[in-house]
Amino acid sequence: MIFHRTSIPPKWQSTYEDFLCQVEKQIALVAGWLITVILVIYQVNQNQRGIDGNIHIIETLLRAPVMLVALFTLFVHYTKKPQVDPGLLLRVIALSVMGLSLSLFVAHALYSPDTLYQMSNVLMIGFFGVSMLSVRGLEQWWTLFVLPLMLFFAALVIVDLEFKQLLPFLFDPLVMIFVGMVVSCSLSQLRRSEFLTRQQLKSLALTDQLTGLLNRHAIHTSLEQLVTRYARHGHPFSLILGDLDKFKRVNDSYGHNVGDEVLIETANRLQDHVRAGDIVCRWGGEELLVVLPDTELDSALAVAEKLRCAVGETPMTAAGHSIKQTISFGVTCYHDGEHIDTTIMRADSALYLAKEGGRNRAASVEPGAGAPDSIPATL
Ligand code: GH3
Ligand code: MG
Ligand code: MG
Repeated sequence: MIFHRTSIPPKWQSTYEDFLCQVEKQIALVAGWLITVILVIYQVNQNQRGIDGNIHIIETLLRAPVMLVALFTLFVHYTKKPQVDPGLLLRVIALSVMGLSLSLFVAHALYSPDTLYQMSNVLMIGFFGVSMLSVRGLEQWWTLFVLPLMLFFAALVIVDLEFKQLLPFLFDPLVMIFVGMVVSCSLSQLRRSEFLTRQQLKSLALTDQLTGLLNRHAIHTSLEQLVTRYARHGHPFSLILGDLDKFKRVNDSYGHNVGDEVLIETANRLQDHVRAGDIVCRWGGEELLVVLPDTELDSALAVAEKLRCAVGETPMTAAGHSIKQTISFGVTCYHDGEHIDTTIMRADSALYLAKEGGRNRAASVEPGAGAPDSIPATL
């Protein structure tokens, strides 16, 4: 449906805004060039259009501000200075085009009624062009069309021009507003659905479909950002690598589906017990990785202990079975200058120590340290 608007979920609103800004930037650039070229063509072809001297001067004066707006747009695009909101720039371009087309019409009606049919065409070109500039669809219609047209009709009354006589010249342009509105709404809807599809695909590629957590691929980007942040500002971060204890037994005793439910419940419990800025991801199989930004090793070990209790202390219910599932954690922190894979391998060695130590516990390995710390299970 043309007028159907796909709604953008709140979590993607700000990305959608950025996307619209990019579209507006591109359209402003195209508009800047188009207006410049069209205005030059009209300016140098006055004689071919049978425009006489007086109206020629008026036309040139009316074109000047729009030419300035177009040149300013190109200047902003190519120099990146000053920083102008592309949405605002696009509105200024659109309003200047509306102002030019409508004032040319009034000027011709007053001083050169014989050439008024030409202005009817100019209005049509102007109206369609402005429709294409309304990137955000119908919501911009009031500012771009209704307001300028109200001023136009007020101007007709002020200069004492009769609307009835002008109507034959205005009929096609007014129809063109409707055509422009339909085309612009469809384009806006197309952009929305294209954006949504792209976001959904992106999210599918980064999310583990069973647990809804980020997947291994997605977490790598976050880890690299944390490494860069450490290098720039020295902000520490820690990793907790978790592995469900004797999970094979759950699958073997209750079936794979129950195993899946236990995995989902574990993921939920971890997610529920970390801070907003912490990231829980499915590292693979029944291994889960928790990334703790701005956290030293000691605090990370305390978090791991809290998570261990959150998973192991209360049995999980899956398909009518009450299952006591425990988890072991390997904890470490990032060390200056090392590759992130080295940190992950250290977390893995810590996890190995936790398993070796009897499972259902958290063990840590300090960067460069020999003996690991281990918190024994209290359950
Ligand atoms: P350990 O305490 O040494 O970790 O014992 P474990 O049985 O958990 O270890 P092991 O690595 O031998 O087994 C892991 C099991 O996890 C085997 C695999 O079938 C199961 N698993 C991995 N991914 C999934 C999954 O997505 N769903 C289910 N249900 N099971 C999975
Ligand atoms: Mg495993
Ligand atoms: Mg396991």
